[in-house]
Amino acid sequence: MDLPVAPPFAIRARLLTPLDDGGTRHEHDGLVVVDEGGRIVFAGAAADRPEAAASAIDLRPWVLLPGMVDLHAHLPQLPNAGLGAGLDLLTWLERYIFPLERGFDEVAADRLAPAAWRAFARAGTTTAMVYAAVYEASTDATFRAAEAHGIRAIVGKVMMDRGTYDGTIDPTTILDRTLAETARLIARWHGAADGRLSYAVTPRFAVSCTADLLRESASLAASTGAYWQTHVSEDRGEIAEVARLFPEAIDYVDVYDRAGGLGERTVLAHAVHLSDRELGRLVESRTRVAHCPVSNLFLASGMMPLGRYLDAGLAVGLGSDIAGGPDVSIFGVMRVGFYVQHARRVAGVEDGRMLEPLDWLRIGSLGGAQALGLDATIGSLEAGKEADLIVVDPAFVAPIPGIEDDDPADLASRLIFRAHPDMVRGAWVRGRGLDGPGVRS
Ligand SMILES: [Zn+2]
Repeated sequence: MDLPVAPPFAIRARLLTPLDDGGTRHEHDGLVVVDEGGRIVFAGAAADRPEAAASAIDLRPWVLLPGMVDLHAHLPQLPNAGLGAGLDLLTWLERYIFPLERGFDEVAADRLAPAAWRAFARAGTTTAMVYAAVYEASTDATFRAAEAHGIRAIVGKVMMDRGTYDGTIDPTTILDRTLAETARLIARWHGAADGRLSYAVTPRFAVSCTADLLRESASLAASTGAYWQTHVSEDRGEIAEVARLFPEAIDYVDVYDRAGGLGERTVLAHAVHLSDRELGRLVESRTRVAHCPVSNLFLASGMMPLGRYLDAGLAVGLGSDIAGGPDVSIFGVMRVGFYVQHARRVAGVEDGRMLEPLDWLRIGSLGGAQALGLDATIGSLEAGKEADLIVVDPAFVAPIPGIEDDDPADLASRLIFRAHPDMVRGAWVRGRGLDGPGVRS
């Protein structure tokens, strides 16, 4: 099957997408028309545009979906994906992760980052918010690879001024140095590729950062319009360590609040064990959370009460947390997220609403776009948005050949519970085909 590599084009296929108004659009015989600028000019029933449908590339019975949004991943950790199960967070970091990130120099990034972006696209992810390592040069290389690949990416150089894994950096200069490096990276990359690339100021987490670094980094993000990303309340041992390091703070969220880090440009990963006060403060400040249920079980961190958080009004998207999570697939994240909801119910601790398969598709695409403030641009297949989309072959998720799911909720359920690594056959950002999915690998 020859897929379009650049706009303009029109694809006729089954169509399944969340909508900005809260609904879902499902068309058995759908059509998406993309203009020369990579923007969707029509997404709906083929019967409503018979002329365009007649000349469109016909991919039926494949299914067009919005591209998935991964709100949290560590690109340099991808080579260790699937390793270290059974360790707690802080031990896992010391044993498996810090040595790997220490080796993520420019040469390593030039080798790894192009393959990593292809792996995201192959899984159906068209927007990824990632951490690099502590090095400026390899963060540049990571951005260069994203620029060339075509994925929509938000990247940040990790900042650590306490317990950093690179002993060659003079501790007395580390704060000024990491701020200067970050400022240069923002100047080079925030808004690059006509807005397809963005910068996230990235203090690793409170355990690795002084109050000065947290405050200065938040101030740098605010003054430049960059995002600010870090981790919060992932693991009990980590929470205890943060309480020891920041005795003046009320709780973990308050550490970031005091630094000026909360707000709608901030994405906090995990947030598994929030108190009611912390939850209320994140909602009030419009701070965004990346839910990473695969990672949370892989590292035995806990089970986030997603339903309760959503009922409280928290903005939540999904994250693979590579390599805390062993796989880049956001469909896999939805599956485990579903199981976490069930496990909470079995354990008698679930007190919020349960998400259905179509809710999970929404949170993995439009929910992630909303968390990034990009929902006017991406996240659903609707006229006026940029053409960030994927096409899936449902034959890969059928339990035996010939079974088809007419109902959209059934189709969503198959894609989540029977997600297959080859099911994504094409992925586009702004109508430009991405390398990675099977047809182009
Ligand atoms: Zn993480």
